[in-house]
Amino acid sequence: MSGNWRVWSAVGAALALTALAAQAQGVKQVDVPRICPLCRTTFAARTAGSGTQMGMRLDLKPLGDIEAPWPVAACPQCRFVLFEDQLDAPALAKLRRYVDTPVYQAFAAARSSYFLIAKLMLALTASDLEVAHAYLKASWQEETDAARLHEDLELSLRHFEAYLQESAGRGSAPQAQGEQVDPDDFRTASILKGELLRRLGRFDEAVAHLEQLRPIPAFQAKPLSEILAYETTLCRQQDAAPHGVEEASPAGKAGAPGKE
Ligand SMILES: [Zn+2]
Repeated sequence: MSGNWRVWSAVGAALALTALAAQAQGVKQVDVPRICPLCRTTFAARTAGSGTQMGMRLDLKPLGDIEAPWPVAACPQCRFVLFEDQLDAPALAKLRRYVDTPVYQAFAAARSSYFLIAKLMLALTASDLEVAHAYLKASWQEETDAARLHEDLELSLRHFEAYLQESAGRGSAPQAQGEQVDPDDFRTASILKGELLRRLGRFDEAVAHLEQLRPIPAFQAKPLSEILAYETTLCRQQDAAPHGVEEASPAGKAGAPGKE
């Protein structure tokens, strides 16, 4: 499951994939038996919906007749969301303690599966980048509820900012921290910070952030340069609505249906 987070590591790569996936058929919906690793309850879980991806939003949500985010199984007994298959005994013990708390059970009664995944990841000291992407997916699930959407966007932004700050600190001396900063992850998170500020209506902050990115060589090639320019345009129009990535290119702008 952890590999799924990497799918979104690069906006540029994702754009190429989006084009390729335009005609790709999704997987047929199937129920598979699962066993909850925390309480050992056996239940039937739906693995995936069928569909066809037709594009992507600026917040990475796939567009088209497709389930997004990817569905994850949730235990009907203890309400644990089975977000990771490779959990060792200490991790399971930690998660069991957290899932048993009234706090988690209250979240489970009210919030989306990816909101719960973010909380479970935090209970395991996951990376800020993984948590940021989980909250981003929660924002796709909860976007019909303004208050929850706002909270998801805020939390996603907070963790992307923590990741960016930490990565910038170790970027010049990666050997000191052991793990090198992935340039695709860093570029994607940088652009998403602008997108999230825009979606939160913090247009001035978004423009200031985007203007900082534009002179950096890594952001000067298409499609990233077009995405930065389009994000800036949307901010100047005080537009906080979701928009498709395709609208960022001149051809896409001409043909894209309005989303207001
Ligand atoms: Zn369970």
